[in-house]
Amino acid sequence: MSTVKTEVKMNIGFVGLGIMGSAMAANLVKAGFRVTVWNRSADRCRPLVAAGACAADSPCAVAEASDILFAMMATPAAVQSVRDGTDGIIAGLRPGAGYVDMATVDAETSIESARLAHAAGARFLEAPVAGSRKPAEDATLTIMAAGDRGLYDASLSALEKMGSKILFLGAAGNAARMKLANNLIMGGMLTALCEGLALAAGSGLDTAQLLEILDSGAVSNPMFRLKGPQVAANREFPAAFPLKHMQKDLRLALRLAEEVGQPLFATATVNELYKAALAAGLGDADFAAVCRVIRP
Ligand code: NAP
Repeated sequence: MSTVKTEVKMNIGFVGLGIMGSAMAANLVKAGFRVTVWNRSADRCRPLVAAGACAADSPCAVAEASDILFAMMATPAAVQSVRDGTDGIIAGLRPGAGYVDMATVDAETSIESARLAHAAGARFLEAPVAGSRKPAEDATLTIMAAGDRGLYDASLSALEKMGSKILFLGAAGNAARMKLANNLIMGGMLTALCEGLALAAGSGLDTAQLLEILDSGAVSNPMFRLKGPQVAANREFPAAFPLKHMQKDLRLALRLAEEVGQPLFATATVNELYKAALAAGLGDADFAAVCRVIRP
């Protein structure tokens, strides 16, 4: 006699439908999870509802409807604004439910989220991601998870629909710190690319040739391949990774460095460049638009 195996899909919540959250939530809907969504600007729920998700009235209502709730907010302040208060996530978490914060924040914010979730009898995981708009759409993000191991195991079937490399890094705070180390490297590399291209252009050299040389050597990488032609041409910079978020990450990395007594000589300078780019009104452009400060 043959047995029919039926997979019971979890009730998933998703709060924060920006560039990343929209694409990640869409992949969960596509995978067949029952997904309830909320976003501050309600119109961003519409495409997901059209794809099969339900929209809730508040982060609290999403939590009430979910076995596991994922959140993808912009900043630590945005995390607090959807997490705390009577309409917040914590107020709606059921005992034993899971709260997975995928935003890039400081370890303190994450550890406080864990404390609040535990006080509500729920579980917490931080799971920041590496990879931008396209990897979010293609479900090829790298996911750095830390916090409650049991929730990590329970979340894996959903995390696997958003990312292709998933690591567990131990206690809450570790993934937040790891993500900041990752992003300061990215900000520094992008700045070096912008300066190299500016110098080549200013010296009358062919920047396409510089990109070809870079791509054939030891510093060849997907980010230079993707952003290089855009920076060389100084075209418009539609945001995949908004510049304001990169500056937030540099600021948080520098704060972490202060806490642990680690000098970050180059990152401090890179942060000043990003602050100048923010002051020039480039916050909503892609982080590659920092080249406009280097070569106005
Ligand atoms: P985004 O497009 O700017 O979206 C941010 C989300 O946060 C939106 O849903 C926005 O709501 C919400 N939000 C902002 N402030 C809020 C507040 N005070 N109260 C409630 N909601 C608020 O950002 P993203 O690019 O998706 O990035 C999300 C997170 O992932 C950030 O921490 C970022 O650093 C990280 N990340 C981004 C990338 C990338 O390439 N984009 C890659 C890796 C990691 P509204 O729609 O109402 O504005």
